[in-house]
Amino acid sequence: MLYSRYFIPTMKETPSDAEVVSHQLMLRAGMIRKLASGIYNYLPLGLRSIRKFENIVREEMNKADAIEMLMPSVQPAELWQESGRWAFYGKELLRFKDRKEAEFCMGPTHEEVITDMVRREIKSYRQMPINFYQIQGKFRDEIRPRFGLMRGREFIMKDAYSFDVDSSAADLSYEKMFNAYMRIFERCGLNFRAVEADTGSIGGSSSHEFMVLADSGEDAIVSCDACRYAANVEKAESPLFTVACNDTVESLQKVSTPEMKTIADVAAFLNVATNKTVKTLVYASDTGELVMALLRGDHELNELKLKNHLGWDEIVMATEEQIFAVTGSPVGFLGPIGLKNDIPVIADRVVKGMTNMVMGANEKDQHFINANRVRDFEVSGFIDIRTVEAGDACPRCDSGKLEMWRGIEVGHVFKLGTKYSKALNATYLDANGKEQIIFMGCYGIGIGRTVAAAIEQNHDENGIIFPIPIAPFHCSVVAVNTKDSGVMAAAEQIYLTLENLGIEVLFDDRDERPGVKFKDNDLIGIPLRIVVGSKGLAEGKVELKVRSTGEVLSISPEEVPATVKQLIDTALIQKNC
Ligand code: ATP
Ligand code: MG
Repeated sequence: MLYSRYFIPTMKETPSDAEVVSHQLMLRAGMIRKLASGIYNYLPLGLRSIRKFENIVREEMNKADAIEMLMPSVQPAELWQESGRWAFYGKELLRFKDRKEAEFCMGPTHEEVITDMVRREIKSYRQMPINFYQIQGKFRDEIRPRFGLMRGREFIMKDAYSFDVDSSAADLSYEKMFNAYMRIFERCGLNFRAVEADTGSIGGSSSHEFMVLADSGEDAIVSCDACRYAANVEKAESPLFTVACNDTVESLQKVSTPEMKTIADVAAFLNVATNKTVKTLVYASDTGELVMALLRGDHELNELKLKNHLGWDEIVMATEEQIFAVTGSPVGFLGPIGLKNDIPVIADRVVKGMTNMVMGANEKDQHFINANRVRDFEVSGFIDIRTVEAGDACPRCDSGKLEMWRGIEVGHVFKLGTKYSKALNATYLDANGKEQIIFMGCYGIGIGRTVAAAIEQNHDENGIIFPIPIAPFHCSVVAVNTKDSGVMAAAEQIYLTLENLGIEVLFDDRDERPGVKFKDNDLIGIPLRIVVGSKGLAEGKVELKVRSTGEVLSISPEEVPATVKQLIDTALIQKNC
């Protein structure tokens, strides 16, 4: 490809509306341009990277026996009404009517459409296991589209759906997809973790997210430094604390704590450690149910764990009025002793081992000291409701400690069970001719998000450093002085030889100063650069620069093809084994 005939509109300035590095660099490198909020044009260079990644995904999906198809973006409302998600999905679902007033939506995901196809076409146990996938544009009217392709409204996803005769067969399909995902992200040379995840609104029994580690990641994840346990913090189990409690039980006392509303203030005022205090929180469901949650003062509540335990659809902090109605107290002085009205009290498991606790007295400016369970108050259950922290013991192994990371979710695999097949009545006939419900799994990868995440992880102050497997071009040839016909001829010769070898080369033949060319080449992140200049040529040498390491080799033009090929093959083959 000739740079002068190609289209790479690079920008010198960092666009002010781009917050994260990948978004800034994708704009500056001329990979994408915004059309509307969360909606982008993929310019030629950006599209090349996207296609590279899609091909890796496609190869691994095919290897794992998934079968490619393509479903429409526009989906009829009836299917969503049948699954129950028309009402449930909320504003992320972009809905509209056609000229006959029939309701439709832009597909944010395709469980309904594929299940409808399968219920019509799959009739017998002999047709399973089967797994269909597509690489296709999704639309989600995200509340806060941001970070470029990372959280768009229109974005490309690979989604796959497996269909099996029973739960254990579905587990095997899940495992196959899990392993394919591991290979996909390994082949891209990304530093990532597969973490246990909450199943969220898609439902189902278990799931893993694939997280690319990056400081700008929206998710917090933990992994054990000794075993393979890793989880999204939303889901991570906290280890069971065994606290030695040989304190003598003291008598309950109410003490004055004027204006002391936070744990830190109360602990400092009473001169006790925060881990002797109890944090009391009141939460409400969307239907107005209330619950009181108790945690050790220095711990944080994990709302999702509490919500999942209660089986609520929504969980929000209770309002001051709701709180006053059950406790008779303003916020800041709450506790489980002397409640005005009945409310279930759930305590984190750690609270079970605490004695002589400090907690609010349900009265303005008053706290209790030496509060003890059973004698002074009861709880309806001890549940793991705290958010794990870095340094916590691993919940799975004896020796490990949890490390904390920020991650970008690039892939997600779910065991769906029979959630959609039941709702849409997708059944098959077993070997005895008996009708059975199909078991499903679903598996997504954000294509654009992965390319953006790769840039988050691979860049420097000069621009992108593409991992070779998803680089838009493997290599560039930069002719330093285009006026020198000897340089141009040598550069062109190298370019043509490389192209003939099947190497993807960008020939920077532009009539620009060398500094401009080097800057652009660094910015767009091509992994290997061959610089052809008159001085070097006079000595029979050209320069080969490796973008990722900064290493510069001085080699003869004849050595270029073999050296370049070897560097590329090493990167591709190593990752592909
Ligand atoms: P998130 O929690 O980030 O909103 P999700 O759980 O809604 O993601 P899934 O429904 O599991 O995402 O979609 C599968 C994959 O599609 C995700 O792992 C992610 O890589 C990608 N994806 C989801 N939403 C977006 C988006 N708005 N823009 C780009 N990619 C997305
Ligand atoms: Mg989402």
